[in-house]
Amino acid sequence: MYINGTWTAATADASFDVFNPADGSVIGQVYDGGQQSARAAIDAAAAAFRTWSKITAYERSAILYRAYQLMIERKEDLAQTMTMEQGKPLRAARMEVQYGADFLLWFAEEAKRVYGETIPSARADQRFIVAHQPIGVVAAITPWNYPVSMITRKVGPALAAGCTVVLKPAEATPLCAIKVFECLIDAGVPEGVINLVTGQNPAPIGEEFVNNPKVRKLTFTGSTAVGKMLAGQAAGNMKRVSCELGGHAPFLVFEDADPVHAAKGAQLIKFLNTGQACISPNRMFVHISIADQFIDVLQQRVSKLRAGSGLEDGVAIGPLVNEAAVNKVAAQVDDAIARGATLHSGGKRLIEGGLDKGFFYAPTVLSGITEDMLIYREETFGPVAAVMTFDDDAKALEMANDTTYGLAAYVYTRDIGRAMRMFEGLDFGIIGINDINPTSAAAPFGGMKDSGLGREGAREGIMEYLETKMGGFSI
Ligand code: NAP
Repeated sequence: MYINGTWTAATADASFDVFNPADGSVIGQVYDGGQQSARAAIDAAAAAFRTWSKITAYERSAILYRAYQLMIERKEDLAQTMTMEQGKPLRAARMEVQYGADFLLWFAEEAKRVYGETIPSARADQRFIVAHQPIGVVAAITPWNYPVSMITRKVGPALAAGCTVVLKPAEATPLCAIKVFECLIDAGVPEGVINLVTGQNPAPIGEEFVNNPKVRKLTFTGSTAVGKMLAGQAAGNMKRVSCELGGHAPFLVFEDADPVHAAKGAQLIKFLNTGQACISPNRMFVHISIADQFIDVLQQRVSKLRAGSGLEDGVAIGPLVNEAAVNKVAAQVDDAIARGATLHSGGKRLIEGGLDKGFFYAPTVLSGITEDMLIYREETFGPVAAVMTFDDDAKALEMANDTTYGLAAYVYTRDIGRAMRMFEGLDFGIIGINDINPTSAAAPFGGMKDSGLGREGAREGIMEYLETKMGGFSI
């Protein structure tokens, strides 16, 4: 753990193992922190806030820019660690390190653009001035599926704004968090400004985060259930909260779309990170007139995806994170088949060729999905493409919106009017129109409804860490 500028052990000197999900081997050990470590880290962050918030935005920007450069220099090492710890293929891991570094660069620039404003008054002797100031100590909690970029997307804007941070990364991926911290520390982030608390049991750390009065802001990325619980507790203490939560993205393919192009896009985005992405399409609505061709192309592409260790060349499907994840995927697939879905590919756990040591599930294509199936309602977080057909635009839109989630949605159409109607009608925060990668450090990322509160990245990202202060001056 890293507390008050020192790499440190937990008070009780306890530690836990970190595993490679591809073969179950132990790849490292980290300290098992709890409430006491969290409290010490918060104290350090509160003390450091006094100076960090006062140095110029130019100085903070320079440090973030240096951290960006270090992360790019160390890309290969970070990617190797990520593949071993989280499982995604090395190529995807390199892309994530780049995406993660992009947030440091973006917020190094945004640090210098925290503008205020003046507002005319109805009184001749009065002037209004609005300024933005850093909130204070930020407590951040991140998931394992994007173990580098989910950290920089929070720590980058928090530091740029002048806040100090205590981070609790996911239990499954603390080694990536340590390497991100090394980039920030080597770039010159002063002691106490960033603090890292690793732990096996997140509950006591989370409790300290939401109850300690020195914490002014909680930023969380993870499941909707945990996000709601923490946001509820933080609300009781009037802390600012942002939450990036689960998703259940619809993928709509209209009759005027090219089914081959759409199927290629569907395969690429659905099986990215073995389906373990919050923006992964969970339900594919395909117009009945092109559904057979769409499913054929999808099935052919999916059957060529090779599963294995992400360190091997040519592997496209890494392991799922743990046994529970495999069981959840299997339960959704079995339920769909029992209720009448057609299985085109996959549909089973992979155990041949040594894969039994890891958590592999075959890339799967199902069609004939109906509203009574688990997969229609629940986020899968696994490699399953679930296809259903439609023949009416309004009905397709209604079904796409028929979810408590509202993170990402995808639309394939060549009709500009239809594209605009879908962009306006879909109740989701991120819409890809003929585009499977609608994400960038420069673009606001976040969801509606049960998918969360607030936005990360873009101009909005830094505002999450700033208070608005208004001065009325009588002259
Ligand atoms: P999770 O179980 O909610 O865990 C997320 C983080 O919360 C982990 O660090 C976890 O620690 C911690 N946590 C769990 N229980 C806690 C508690 N009682 N108090 C404090 N912290 C607690 O979610 P996950 O399975 O890791 O992540 C997958 C979910 O994240 C999916 O639903 C996915 O859609 C969502 N996600 C959303 C976005 C987005 O931007 N919207 C991005 C990525 C992922 P431990 O690891 O120690 O359990």
